[in-house]
Amino acid sequence: MKVVSSDIVISAVKPEQYPEGDLPEFALAGRSNVGKSSFINKMLNRRGLARISSKPGKTQTLNFYLINEILHFVDVPGYGYAKVSKKEREAWGKMIETYFTTREHLKAVLLIVDVRHPPTKDDVLMYDFLKHYEIPCIVIATKADKISKSKWQKHLKITQEELDLDPNDTIILFSSETGLGKDKAWATIESYM
Ligand code: GDP
Repeated sequence: MKVVSSDIVISAVKPEQYPEGDLPEFALAGRSNVGKSSFINKMLNRRGLARISSKPGKTQTLNFYLINEILHFVDVPGYGYAKVSKKEREAWGKMIETYFTTREHLKAVLLIVDVRHPPTKDDVLMYDFLKHYEIPCIVIATKADKISKSKWQKHLKITQEELDLDPNDTIILFSSETGLGKDKAWATIESYM
């Protein structure tokens, strides 16, 4: 898909604040610093739209981006940042659970993982949670440019195995640096619309 327009429409913490209408939504989840903002910016051809490396764990809102007036990306605050208080973590969990389990417009979650390392415990928990609620998942294995091409397949296989990836879910090798995987990511998103 060629992105011709994209803008943040609302930052929401509760359902009353979610955008009205019935556009399909794609949520983006991943641990802090995994490269989620870079992924969003690359997909939208926007440099500074999603804030790169803004204080981890601080953006405790769901940020809705309207794209080409036909779909929403929903940026979910990153998880796994150690310096977040128990209270903040609980608020985060509640917000995410409400959104993921009640939002009918949600078509799929893009789970961003770092292809260099096996998925973290939190990545596995997030994936299990999505599967428990039967939410389709597109796994984005990013930072591919940081390892040699000869290691890509091995690392993808480890990611797939550690997540126990559902055969219906797609895993896509990605790089926000080179744009690798961008077309496949858009095609996969479109297949869920
Ligand atoms: P977020 O906290 O998940 O939103 O992560 P960011 O998008 O802020 O990225 C964290 C760091 O990783 C930043 O320094 C990015 O420039 C870097 N980064 C993100 N994606 C890539 C990638 O695909 N390749 C490389 N080389 N660096 C990346």
